[in-house]
Amino acid sequence: MTTTHTTAEWQALDAAHYLHPFTDHKSLAARGTRVITHAEGVYLHDSEGHRILDGMSGLWCVALGYGRRELAEAAYRQMQELPYYNSFFQCANPPAIELADRLARLSPPQFQHAFFTGSGSESNDTMVRMVRRYWELRGQPERQVIISRWNGYHGSTMAGASLGGMKAMHSQGGLPIPGIVHIGQPYWFECGGDLDPDEFGLKAARELEQKILEIGPDKVAAFIGEPVQGAGGVIIPPRTYWPEVQRIVDRYGILFASDEVICGFGRTGEWFGCEHFGTRPDFMTLAKAITSGYQPLGALMVADRVAQVLVGEGGEFFHGFTYSGHPVAAAVANANLEILERERIVERVRTEIAPYWAARWRELADHPLVGEARTLGLFGALELVPRKPSRAFFPERGAVGTRCRDLSVKNGLVMRAVWDTMIAAPPLVITPAEIDELVSKAVQTLDQLHQELRRDGLA
Ligand SMILES: *Cc1c(COP(=O)(O)O)cnc(C)c1O
Repeated sequence: MTTTHTTAEWQALDAAHYLHPFTDHKSLAARGTRVITHAEGVYLHDSEGHRILDGMSGLWCVALGYGRRELAEAAYRQMQELPYYNSFFQCANPPAIELADRLARLSPPQFQHAFFTGSGSESNDTMVRMVRRYWELRGQPERQVIISRWNGYHGSTMAGASLGGMKAMHSQGGLPIPGIVHIGQPYWFECGGDLDPDEFGLKAARELEQKILEIGPDKVAAFIGEPVQGAGGVIIPPRTYWPEVQRIVDRYGILFASDEVICGFGRTGEWFGCEHFGTRPDFMTLAKAITSGYQPLGALMVADRVAQVLVGEGGEFFHGFTYSGHPVAAAVANANLEILERERIVERVRTEIAPYWAARWRELADHPLVGEARTLGLFGALELVPRKPSRAFFPERGAVGTRCRDLSVKNGLVMRAVWDTMIAAPPLVITPAEIDELVSKAVQTLDQLHQELRRDGLA
């Protein structure tokens, strides 16, 4: 791989012109961006020649790892054949039709229809508009309110950020938009108090029922949640949580959207997170691993109950994107999903890799800084705490996690920090030997961090 600039030159150009997502631009300009130049398998390479194990699959998306030639070839072929045409005006293209059919086959049986978008955020925006359209067609236009959860993540558009429960995001730009309200999250480590996890799971789920009754059941349109909250810190709900949520949405007849942007396509060891937890959603929002990140693409899966009204009643749904059903993105998604099926990768995650990952990752719970080490499928999280076995966090929340993340990258491993929760979600194709390497780099990082914190009187 040749580059035309030195790292310092890239950094100067970046600081001069490039506004990054979710970034403090002033501090990044002072520090200089890391320039990732190429990657293969589970490894990234930067412009300084460092090789870094990508424990986060990019941003949760690179399920098949980097450098899969078949995906590049699918894009190249499709670009020559038909690089673009829209799906407005009664048109479609073969890869998009094939992808809708494939998604219907892979999804739980209630899903026979897909609406394509360019991202997870757009998929959630589409869900909000389609939910309200559905209730209007059903003659209940007063059903407007969508209930979501604090510390959930549903994207960064106006509706996506409103559905999400990130208070820092709401504080910039006057969010949430009207008609979106939040309840507590099923995060036992932080919010469980003296309850055992199962009791706490029921209590967290019943906040949904309380909120529905407070608003009035005839005003509630839908509930949305991630099966496992990803960006919020790999929050794996107690096993009592999702069955109780399902009971409540059934009881009040409200629509249920499962945000599968991270959980979808094998992350939990099932094709979709709702299958792991046994829920029956009316919508699934998809993106990220749908193309392994090789092309931007999102989709909204729509259950028959909704599709029958939308299609059956007729009338135009005034919504869509220039790139809805983009042929190149769809061709790459088809190739990606075909590899996932052909190589039985989801099954391999469930039966071989996730059990190995769980055994190795949970060893980290023995470290003096780790208050909890949890996994599900190929998710992992570590709660960093000053004193075990207390579940109290460090006093200045987030500072220790940031230090841990920076040390980890220096040691050649991408882990992400959510406050003081360290999280990992490696590519689904990671091997046991690569998991060993990941865990030993995490141990090395935790040991160094522990030494530094003791030196500073923080542990
Ligand atoms: C990343 C993410 C989104 C937003 O997807 P974008 O493609 O970044 O718009 C939505 N929901 C969840 C659960 C996500 O992790």
